[in-house]
Amino acid sequence: MGVRGRGRGPRRYVLKADPSRQWRLLDLQAIDTRLDQIAHAKKSLPQLAQLKDLQTQSDLLGTELVRVRTELSDVQREVAKAESDVQLVRERAARDQARLDSGTGTAKDLQAIQHELQSLARRQSELEDVEIEIMERAEAAGAEVARLEAEHATLATDLEAARVAQDDALREYEAEAAKVAAPRADTVAGVGEDLVALYEKIRTQTGGLGAAALRQRRCGGCQLELNNVEMNRIKAAAEDEVLRCEECRRILVRTAESGL
Ligand SMILES: [Zn+2]
Repeated sequence: MGVRGRGRGPRRYVLKADPSRQWRLLDLQAIDTRLDQIAHAKKSLPQLAQLKDLQTQSDLLGTELVRVRTELSDVQREVAKAESDVQLVRERAARDQARLDSGTGTAKDLQAIQHELQSLARRQSELEDVEIEIMERAEAAGAEVARLEAEHATLATDLEAARVAQDDALREYEAEAAKVAAPRADTVAGVGEDLVALYEKIRTQTGGLGAAALRQRRCGGCQLELNNVEMNRIKAAAEDEVLRCEECRRILVRTAESGL
């Protein structure tokens, strides 16, 4: 309290306004404070952060899905190649077997064919092992694609729900703002141009609060208690004099609860 009452000299210009206009200024401040709170709440909706988080997850998953789908189609090409390799060997073996069954050719030819059939059988078995291994990889890749697709779909549902919740919350705030703002024009008219101009100027400087009530010797703006010198100055002031808090320079409005 030490800095209080240091005396800034007499006001050069004293704004006059009937107490009723000053009280309406408190109504205007209440309206503007609520509108400021609503504007702030709209900007800091929890759904905004949630939406951003879900969108990031969905984007990452989408990228992963593209990668896994590419992998799956690569493996599916390998499966087709392996199947055709096996098929070629089977056809060759079938032709050899037919020749063997027909019994044409020399004994040496038939022996050569039998020998080739044995090596074709080994080759087919090897190729079939390769084919099985590739098919297992294709199955795993297919399962991974299905898993990621399901996860992506769940995220899309969550995103949609978060969007709806956000829109609902915004609509609620907008409806409240419209209701709160409805009497503002009348209130401004009741306060009067000169006082509103001063109030708006202070509001800009303080970031919201331009006028406050004096309650129990305390400024409702900076919450500091007024000392006796100031209280005496206020008591002596004409009731239509627009007072300012010596500390925060806000418009200080006297009410029945001021402690005067
Ligand atoms: Zn103050």
